[in-house]
Amino acid sequence: MKRRTFFRSAAAAAAAATIPIRSPLDASFLPVGRRARDVRAITGDGREVTLTSAAIEDLNARMFGRVLLADDAGYEDARRILNPAFDKNPALIVQPVGSVDIRHAVNFAQEHGGLLTAVKCGGHSHSGKSTCDYGMQIDLSHFRDVRVDPVARTARVTGGSLLGQLDYESMAYDLVTPMGTVSHTGVGGLVTGGGFGRLARRFGMSIDSLLSADVVTADGRLVHASDDENPELFWGIRGGGGNFGIVTSFEFRLHPMQRQVLGGAIMYPISMARDVLNLYGDYGFNAPDEIQIDCAVVIPPGGAPGMAGFQVCYSGAPGRADAALGPLRSLGTPMMDDVGATDYVALQRSGDVDDFRTAGGYLKSGFISDMSANLVSAIVDGFEGHPSRMTTLAFQQGGGAISRVGNSETSFSHRTSQANMLGILGWTHGIDASEHIAWIRSFWPSLEPSIDGFYGNDLDEEITAAGVNANFGGNYQRLLALKNRYDPTNLFRLNANIEPSA
Ligand code: FAD
Repeated sequence: MKRRTFFRSAAAAAAAATIPIRSPLDASFLPVGRRARDVRAITGDGREVTLTSAAIEDLNARMFGRVLLADDAGYEDARRILNPAFDKNPALIVQPVGSVDIRHAVNFAQEHGGLLTAVKCGGHSHSGKSTCDYGMQIDLSHFRDVRVDPVARTARVTGGSLLGQLDYESMAYDLVTPMGTVSHTGVGGLVTGGGFGRLARRFGMSIDSLLSADVVTADGRLVHASDDENPELFWGIRGGGGNFGIVTSFEFRLHPMQRQVLGGAIMYPISMARDVLNLYGDYGFNAPDEIQIDCAVVIPPGGAPGMAGFQVCYSGAPGRADAALGPLRSLGTPMMDDVGATDYVALQRSGDVDDFRTAGGYLKSGFISDMSANLVSAIVDGFEGHPSRMTTLAFQQGGGAISRVGNSETSFSHRTSQANMLGILGWTHGIDASEHIAWIRSFWPSLEPSIDGFYGNDLDEEITAAGVNANFGGNYQRLLALKNRYDPTNLFRLNANIEPSA
C-alpha cells in the first residue's frame, strides 16, 4: 500500500471508530449535548412563526442529512455564500444528502406556513438569494456527485454539485458539457438560469445539453422532467431559475472534445479601450464558434495601470487557431499576451477564489446586441476607477450556438444578444464600498439605451418585480402558468421570482 493511501485509510478508520452509526430514525443525531429548542422564524410572506423543538427534532429524525441551528458546529460555514457582503442568519439550515431529505425539508417548510426558503448550491448568487434571515436554508453542499457514462455520453449530476466536478469527471473521457467559467459555481443555480461559458458558442448554453432532470416541487413530490415526461416543467427549468422546485438530479449530454485548448488573455493599455471595444464589436461578434472571446476594461485599485482586452478560449482545430486569434492581436503590442496551450479543466479553475471570505462584490448587468458608437463612447468617456476598489466592465460573449436556439424553445429568452455586459466592483471585505456602488448605479443609465434585458442569474436587487417579469419577454405568460401550477404559494421566491397569480 502506498504511504499516502495508508495514512488516509488509517485516518478514516480512526474517524469511523468515533462516529456513531446512525439510523435515519435516530433523533440522537442532533449534535452531541444539544437538543432542539423552539426557534422563531418567518414565512415567505413575512409572518412570524415558532418552530417547536418537537417539530425540529421530528424533521431531524426523518432526515438522513443534518439539521443545524445557530449554535451548532457547521452552521457558520453553511449559512455563508460566496459574497461575504451577504451576512444572513437562517433560523435553521438543513443539509440534505439525497432527494428524500429535500422532500422532507420542503414539506417542513409548507407545514410551517410556507417558511421563507433559500436554496444554496454553489452559493454564487449575486443578489444573496441562497441565504436568508429567519427562514430555512436548504444547503445542498453535502449532495454532490457526478457520474459519467462514457458510452452513452451522458452525465448525471446531483443538485448540489459544482461545475468543476462535472468538468473534471467528464474530461477524464475527453467529453465535456458547456458550463460557466469558475469551477466552484453551482450546477444548480447556473443551469436553471441558462449557463454561459467558454464552450457555449460551440455547444450551446448549459441548458441546451440538458436531457432531463428530477425536481422536488413545492408540494414535496419528486417529478421527472424531460421532453417526454412533464415537458412543460422541463421547458420551465431551462431558464426560469429556481422558481419551480429544487432540481435533485441533472442528466446532461456530453460532447467529445480534446482536453487541450488555447486559453489566456490579450490585454492592451486602457488608452486603447475604444479600439478594443470596436474590435470586439466588429470581429468578436462574428468570430467562429470555436472561440469564446470575453472582453474587459479593468481599472485596478492602488494606481496600477488600467487595461482593456480579451480573455479567450479556443477549442477548435489547431490549424485554424492563428486565424481565429489573429485579429485580437492586430491592435499593436499588447501589455500582456499569455494565450497558450492549456488543459481545459485547469483553465476552468484559473479564475477560482481561494478564500471566499476576503472579497466583497457588486454586479450590474445587461444584454447587448450591438457594440454601437454610443455605447463605446459612454464606456470610454464615463468609466471611472476607484483608489481602493477593483472596477471592471466585462462582456461575456453570446452568439454562435446560443443564438441558433429560438427564444421560446427553452424558457431562456435572450438568445439573440451578442454579449452579457457586466459592471463589477470588487473590494476587500470589511471596507465600505457603498460610495462606489452608488457610482456604478449612477453610471449605468448611460449604458441603458444599449441594453435589452438582463441575465436572470445576475439579478440585481435594484430590479423591480415588474422588471423581472418583463425580462422573461414572450415566455412570461407560460412561465406564470407553470408557477401557478407547481408553486402556487411561492415557496421558491428567493430567485428571479415569478409571483404566482393563482
Ligand atoms: P446559489 O447562490 O447556490 O444559488 C442561486 C439560486 O439558484 C438559488 O437562489 C436558487 O434559486 C437556485 N438554485 C440553486 N441550486 C438549485 C437547484 N438544485 N435546483 C433549483 N434551483 C437551484 N453564470 C454563467 O452563466 N456563466 C458564468 O461563467 C458565470 N460565472 C460566474 C462566476 C462567479 C464568480 C459568480 C459569482 C457567478 C457567475 N455566474 C455565471 C452567475 C451564476 O450563474 C449565478 O450566480 C448562479 O445562480 C450560481 O449558481 P450557484 O448554485 O452557485 O448559486
